[in-house]
Amino acid sequence: MNMNRREAIKLGAASVAAVAVSGSMSGCNNTEPTPAVISNATSNSRGKYTVVVIGGGFGGLTVANNLKKKNKDLDLLVIEKRDTFMSCPVSNTNLGKLDGINLGTFVFDYAQPVEKYGYDMLTSEVIAIDRTKKTVTTAVGIISYEILVLSPGISYDYENQFPTWSKRKIAEVQRTAPAALIPGSEHVALDRMLSNMDDGDVVITVPNGKFRCPPAPFERACMIAAYMKKEDIQGKVIILNPKEKFAKYGAFMESFKELYPDRIVYVPNAKVEDVDVSAKSISYSYEVSTGKKDEDGDEIMKDVSKTISYEVLNLMPNNKANEVVEMATLKTVPGGFHKVVMNGCSFQTATDKDVYAVGDVVAHAIPPSGQTAVWAGKQCADEITARLAGKSYSLPVKTKAVNAGNVCYSMVGDNPEEAIMVTHDFSWTGKTIKGKGHVPKAASGKYRSTGTGKALRDWYSGITADLFS
Ligand SMILES: Cc1cc2nc3c(=O)[nH]c(=O)nc-3n(C[C@H](O)[C@H](O)[C@H](O)COP(=O)(O)OP(=O)(O)OC[C@H]3O[C@@H](n4cnc5c(N)ncnc54)[C@H](O)[C@@H]3O)c2cc1C
Repeated sequence: MNMNRREAIKLGAASVAAVAVSGSMSGCNNTEPTPAVISNATSNSRGKYTVVVIGGGFGGLTVANNLKKKNKDLDLLVIEKRDTFMSCPVSNTNLGKLDGINLGTFVFDYAQPVEKYGYDMLTSEVIAIDRTKKTVTTAVGIISYEILVLSPGISYDYENQFPTWSKRKIAEVQRTAPAALIPGSEHVALDRMLSNMDDGDVVITVPNGKFRCPPAPFERACMIAAYMKKEDIQGKVIILNPKEKFAKYGAFMESFKELYPDRIVYVPNAKVEDVDVSAKSISYSYEVSTGKKDEDGDEIMKDVSKTISYEVLNLMPNNKANEVVEMATLKTVPGGFHKVVMNGCSFQTATDKDVYAVGDVVAHAIPPSGQTAVWAGKQCADEITARLAGKSYSLPVKTKAVNAGNVCYSMVGDNPEEAIMVTHDFSWTGKTIKGKGHVPKAASGKYRSTGTGKALRDWYSGITADLFS
């Protein structure tokens, strides 16, 4: 029995057993009788696949699509906990209520790539990985793999950032001050809160350390400011950043000053201390000069605390690699994020030759963006295809570069639509892959332009068409 792929996409607990049948029957293991596969496994087994990809986001879906493009007979399973794809890129333009954009702009159904490329998809949450047994445990059963690819994205790290907060308080803050850095209903909640807001301030807090899409909080500030201006909502957008500067700093500051001079308030070096969700207030501390100098001539600073009220709070906590990385017990880089250490300039992990990783969790020095995840996903698919064909594959050892391996746009204006951008050229030396950023100015001498605004829309149409049509 070969599984109907329209059924595969609808998988839930009730239908998941069908995946196991499909998994053991379809693809390049067709010559292997199903019972042999099943008999190797526990009674809870849902079958075995040559390649299992965890995460159907930008990175994971690219790996899956490109592996099947190169080898249509490959038996491949994508495990994704959500039943729809939601894009974070360009979601801020929905908060700005730009023409023709709505929540539907960011939602895609997995049926399209599953139908087109012919892999299986399991809608279930991965809860454990056993690299010795080469199994992945999901909420609905155990899958065996030959090769495992991880692209699980990020999680929030409220616990380390706010060690005194109870689980209940974290849940309350997450619900009432949605971060909206991960696909899902937080984007819907933030959109609803802004649509229903009265006059008052919107406070945006920026994560500390490494985090997904570093320009995203600042693009969001511009889009919320544009929305408030358009709707004549009296209030400011206050950005609390734990650092002095940030990605595309000069380009964003130009837009803050010229487009939203009375609207956006940027507070650098601001550490969030606490949130009172019932009082709708947030406390933070920041450093101010005492006006005195120490014996080395450096300014002596002191901490000042402040509590402000908000109408809407977008609290973006510190980020960390998704728990799937910890489940796989992979070697990670020391520090708060736990990026996965890679095997030289490849997308194979340093810990296990049978486990690969792409997307925001990899430790290569390339930006954590959807565009980078897609680029990495294609390299990873090439690498695994070569391996399955018994060929060696690696990015060239001597330094080579890919121009604009990453292009990341941020919409800053709504009328007219204007955007800024950063490009990253990727290069590799044999030890790691690096990205070198460049923030170009338009012919007008300004960073922002309507041409870049149009390019943002074109980029999004292109990248989503590549994944979903
Ligand atoms: C507001 C915002 C704006 C952005 N703008 C841009 C932009 O303009 N350009 C750009 O290039 N990038 C942008 N990004 C960054 C981009 O979204 C990420 O870098 C990209 O999604 C990373 O891809 P990924 O595959 O690593 O993770 P994701 O795309 O998040 O995919 C991870 C998937 O794994 C699934 N998953 C997690 N845990 C489990 C589990 N236990 N079991 C099963 N499934 C699981 C998740 O549900 C998710 O679907 C933006 C991000 C944000 C938040």
